[in-house]
Amino acid sequence: MLIVMHHHATRAQIDQVIATVEELGYRAEPIPGSLRTAIGVLGNQGYVDDSTIRNLPGVRETIHVSKPYKMVSRDFHPEPSVVDVSGVRFGDGEKPVIIAGPCSIETEQQMLEAATQVKAAGAQMLRGGAFKPRTGPHTFQGLGVEGLKILQQAGRASGLPVVTEVMRIEQLDVICRYADMLQVGARNMQNFDLLKEVGKTEHPVLLKRGMSATIEEFLAAAEYIVAEGNKRVVLCERGIRTFEKATRNTLDLSVVPLIREMSHLPIIVDPSHATGKRSLVSVMSKAALVAGAHGLMIEVHPDPAKALCDGAQSLTGAGFAELMGEISGLLQYLGH
Ligand code: PEP
Ligand code: MN
Repeated sequence: MLIVMHHHATRAQIDQVIATVEELGYRAEPIPGSLRTAIGVLGNQGYVDDSTIRNLPGVRETIHVSKPYKMVSRDFHPEPSVVDVSGVRFGDGEKPVIIAGPCSIETEQQMLEAATQVKAAGAQMLRGGAFKPRTGPHTFQGLGVEGLKILQQAGRASGLPVVTEVMRIEQLDVICRYADMLQVGARNMQNFDLLKEVGKTEHPVLLKRGMSATIEEFLAAAEYIVAEGNKRVVLCERGIRTFEKATRNTLDLSVVPLIREMSHLPIIVDPSHATGKRSLVSVMSKAALVAGAHGLMIEVHPDPAKALCDGAQSLTGAGFAELMGEISGLLQYLGH
């Protein structure tokens, strides 16, 4: 339930409502807005009897919200959120953030080269996987902690904040030491225990949409993180599983404007995993920005033909630089 206060409600009246909500056994989350304060009621299993609350001084109305996600919704938090990752900002009013780098961290040389290339082309963040969720167990599984060290080094050398995937709770401590942002991958979007632990950290989180997750499930997964206290969540559409086999996944671009209506969290698009094809990455990147994405995550490898993972969808450094040139013109046109 959401309690909307009058615009003239006093601090004492807001505090009284919070105390009453807590006396009823629920958690109260005040959400200050530009016009009025709202108070989210959390922790209820079903319908909340609002008869006491409705009549408290300063209360304008109560709204019953029966969605599995509340804190990430616009009902609870009408103002858009901006997520800051070591100075790089995702959200409304900010220039879309371009994250680029290889699928996996392979060697120091590969990572440093990739970092230099993407930085020179204008990327604002660097990506690279050290713990890789591979479909089969006989493929490259990532360099683990050694990879994290290389990623940190490449990030520092290029001056770019780094994002990398966490697959298991036990990896969280070490990844938090080396990375600026935690990625929860598509395969773990509904690993609820992992989401809760990620929610207890203070690291910003890039939450990717599960390959067959509905938008409601996607937002409910974000809610798990936010409900634990970590509000710094950026969503990422990376394509969903459909009957179509010509592309690796089906890029569901309509979720971008839709999520922007439903949630205050920023949303970015990963055209690399969405299409699986280098030739489609550039045009879908631009389409995502036109749809209103707050950023892009693009796989770039210095030598895609030799990549240990996802070479077919990786841009070369030159290909990425070309795309960034086009993006810069597009962003101007879009008014960024
Ligand atoms: C990735 O970004 O490296 C990755 C594995 O993506 P996804 O979880 O979207 O498949
Ligand atoms: Mn990949």
